[in-house]
Amino acid sequence: MENDNHPKNDVVIIGGGPVGATAALLLTRAGKRVIVLEKSAFPRFHVGESFLPAGFELLKQLGLEEQLSRLPRMTKVGAEFGFGHGKDTSCFDFSESLFDDGYETFNIERAIFDDMMLEAAADAGADVRTEAPVRRIVQLNEGDIAVEVDGNIIEGKCLLDASGQGTVLARHLGSKKIMQHHRKVAYFGHFEQVQRLPGQSEGHPTVAMCDEGWFWLINIDKKRTSIGMVLDSDVARSIDCPTSEMLHWGIQRCPLVRDRTASAVFPDQTHTIADFSYYCRPFAGPGYFLIGDAAFFLDPIFSSGLGLGMEMAVRAAADAEELLAHLDGTHTTNGKKPRRPARIRRDYINYINRSSAPFVTLVNLFYDHSFRELFLHGQGPVNIQPAIISILSGYIFPRISWPLRWRLYLMELFTKIHARVAMVPRRDSHSLCSTQPVPLPLVEAVATSA
Ligand SMILES: Cc1cc2nc3c(=O)[nH]c(=O)nc-3n(C[C@H](O)[C@H](O)[C@H](O)COP(=O)(O)OP(=O)(O)OC[C@H]3O[C@@H](n4cnc5c(N)ncnc54)[C@H](O)[C@@H]3O)c2cc1C
Repeated sequence: MENDNHPKNDVVIIGGGPVGATAALLLTRAGKRVIVLEKSAFPRFHVGESFLPAGFELLKQLGLEEQLSRLPRMTKVGAEFGFGHGKDTSCFDFSESLFDDGYETFNIERAIFDDMMLEAAADAGADVRTEAPVRRIVQLNEGDIAVEVDGNIIEGKCLLDASGQGTVLARHLGSKKIMQHHRKVAYFGHFEQVQRLPGQSEGHPTVAMCDEGWFWLINIDKKRTSIGMVLDSDVARSIDCPTSEMLHWGIQRCPLVRDRTASAVFPDQTHTIADFSYYCRPFAGPGYFLIGDAAFFLDPIFSSGLGLGMEMAVRAAADAEELLAHLDGTHTTNGKKPRRPARIRRDYINYINRSSAPFVTLVNLFYDHSFRELFLHGQGPVNIQPAIISILSGYIFPRISWPLRWRLYLMELFTKIHARVAMVPRRDSHSLCSTQPVPLPLVEAVATSA
């Protein structure tokens, strides 16, 4: 086996998705020797095309606005939510937030976005290697780590795992825990000629809520729309339909999505991902930090994955830098004595727990019909709705502010009260399983040609 180190890397990053690329960019700019090991050839397809306003602000802080402006994308200033029957949908704009933070963001095809991010890391000086799958963790000690890539051993002082759902390090450590109460499957693909909302709302993702799950419709550029269906795993298992036709199965039973796709060109192929909700604790240990989906992923409903992951990358990059200063016996960039490694890790873990907590609460609330009714109503006392929109904009780093936090508690309380005593008008839910399917002529055309 060959040793591929001349000299030893400061940081080895597994995974060149946006989270790994963000960490690589920052650490390289800080003068560290960084190697990124990415399994796939880029550009490659990826799900997760919608950004939060806070994510866009972060990209600007990273100095990537210019690069981004060259890519086709769709401006996003809000979102549309409705039940699957489509009788009453409701839109909100991020400008209705409690605070006057940036409220514009975008949807984009991930293949080109991720490629741009990885290229930015390479341009900054990171040693980016694609088609370099990490097969094995060879060494994992404080200041001394090594991984194997197809017969080569790559060594470094610190390992950042940004392998996304691949969760390379957690699998090695046996620390990946699927969230049993959030077991879901998603089916998705890129459509064309999907009916769009007018004007500024064209970039609004549409969420169609059903008893068994929900759909997203996200316009990613002038032509294409990403459509996906998220179903409870138990429900998915009980449906007698091949996986490749599940998205069509759902659309046939969801009037809101069916109407929007009445003249659409369906994709030849759809993609599937299952069991994507999990935690890999602890998020840091001797020699390593987990970042992005390699640490945890909860649920795609509020498009928080990329924003949370990239904020984790920013924090982990700063913490890895401080760890390296400690190992080298030097000072941090601001001239301070570095924290001890155990302290750095504890603070990092607390940071992730704290900053992800509001989304954990909102995701749990989302699967409660009472919350859906309150949220669609769009107003409430003490500016509760603007506070929820602020959280959905992603302005919760490094911690959620008190004015947002107490209103979120209140929303939880209102959801419980509303389940018993109506606080806003009741709305019908929509069940896919109890709805008669309406055939989709275009779907049949795709099925025959496939
Ligand atoms: C159904 C669904 C819909 C979603 N929708 C949204 C959305 O609208 N908005 C949003 O913000 N988020 C969304 N997400 C979440 C979002 O996709 C992720 O949070 C985001 O991609 C995480 O970025 P990452 O860099 O951590 O991981 P990834 O983007 O997955 O990158 C990880 C990289 O690691 C590489 N890798 C894996 N194993 C290895 C290995 N052994 N060696 C080397 N490299 C390896 C992979 O090839 C990949 O390129 C969604 C997620 C799901 C499941």
